[in-house]
Amino acid sequence: MAHLDVARIQHDFPILKQEVNGRRLVYLDNAATTQKPRQVIDALVQYYETTNANIHRGIHTLAVRATDQYEAVRGKVAAHIGAANSADVVFTRNTTESINLVARAWGDANVGEGDEIVLSLMEHHSNIVPWQLLARRKGAVLRYADVRDDGTLDLDSLRALVGRRTRLVSVVHMSNVLGTINPVAEIAAMAHAQGALVLVDGAQSAPHVPLDVDTLGCDFFAFSAHKMLGPTGVGVLWAKPGLLETMDPFLGGGEMISVVKPEGSTWAQVPHKFEAGTPNIADVIAFGAALDYLRHLGMEAVREHEKAITAAAIEALTRLPGVTIHGPRNVGIRGGAVSFSVDGIHPHDVSTIVDSYGVAIRAGHHCAQLLMRRLGVPATNRASFYIYNDERDLQTLIEALRQAIKVFTHDSARTAV
Ligand code: PMP
Repeated sequence: MAHLDVARIQHDFPILKQEVNGRRLVYLDNAATTQKPRQVIDALVQYYETTNANIHRGIHTLAVRATDQYEAVRGKVAAHIGAANSADVVFTRNTTESINLVARAWGDANVGEGDEIVLSLMEHHSNIVPWQLLARRKGAVLRYADVRDDGTLDLDSLRALVGRRTRLVSVVHMSNVLGTINPVAEIAAMAHAQGALVLVDGAQSAPHVPLDVDTLGCDFFAFSAHKMLGPTGVGVLWAKPGLLETMDPFLGGGEMISVVKPEGSTWAQVPHKFEAGTPNIADVIAFGAALDYLRHLGMEAVREHEKAITAAAIEALTRLPGVTIHGPRNVGIRGGAVSFSVDGIHPHDVSTIVDSYGVAIRAGHHCAQLLMRRLGVPATNRASFYIYNDERDLQTLIEALRQAIKVFTHDSARTAV
């Protein structure tokens, strides 16, 4: 795992220095949210100590400085995803809001009765429920592409669903449960051939893989700052050049207008048309520090590091008795969210025992109930890795899991007697 200087990275994360339950904290819940480096925390404090002002309005020095810093982050976001134009980047609250923005501002005008929206069974609820609400408003129909037993998306099933009535194909780039990376370029070509647009839920890919929205070929790309070292409360929606201009506003209010008259209003230029009210200025600026941090590491190196630790995790988990991994084994087509079940032990019990070792993993349905049903399980455990995780973290997880298996095997043996 020589792709990143992990010891040095760990030093940048104050939260990792603490003990939890008398043990060194091993944070493996990165698919839920990541920890924040000192650089991001400092950017937030520094903003409030030196710059705080409302943006896009005042002509005083602080307002200009805050506006410049906020707008500079738009450029950093564009660079992170390979977008040519920072005006195609809209700041939202999170991935969920980005998807809801599209469902309202694009969906209401472009999806009608009997039209179809194609999703997959591996979607997060935030890429299902906004479309269910749209379908209810418009009388549209949702279709779900299947997931194969190996945890990959069933492209044949997707192909069979995309047709003349399809208006949108909306799929996750990297599954937050299975780790699967979907072949977005292929899916986009399939959808575009039928005249449908493509939204990609990039909540799990933007933090972990090098990105180029042109190569992906999608029309919308949504993600959250908090899963990539940034603060909570900041999300991104990118749209293909020209697309945002064709869309109605999502929320109305200050900042998003050009002229307001009693009988109606005209809209500001994009992206401001989609950023009504005072935005989350401080957190956007701190997100800029997170993007700088990732750029210095290099997304190629981040990806290689995660491939190495994920491969080691899959190998170690496979050797544990009674452990089943849900998702592809090949790290070439997957990221570092590793879901697993342990025979005879409820995921919450596994998590509780592992937590007593200072190890934070997740147990539950991971906001993917359709996928849980497809996998035939009520819930799973999930360990998810990031730049500050190393071999020692993995060993602690495995030691804790071994202990959980031992405790429960003994308990059930005793009950049987
Ligand atoms: N999509 C995926 C794949 C996710 O993993 C998540 C977060 N778990 C979301 C969407 C929603 O992100 P947020 O809660 O930041 O809106």
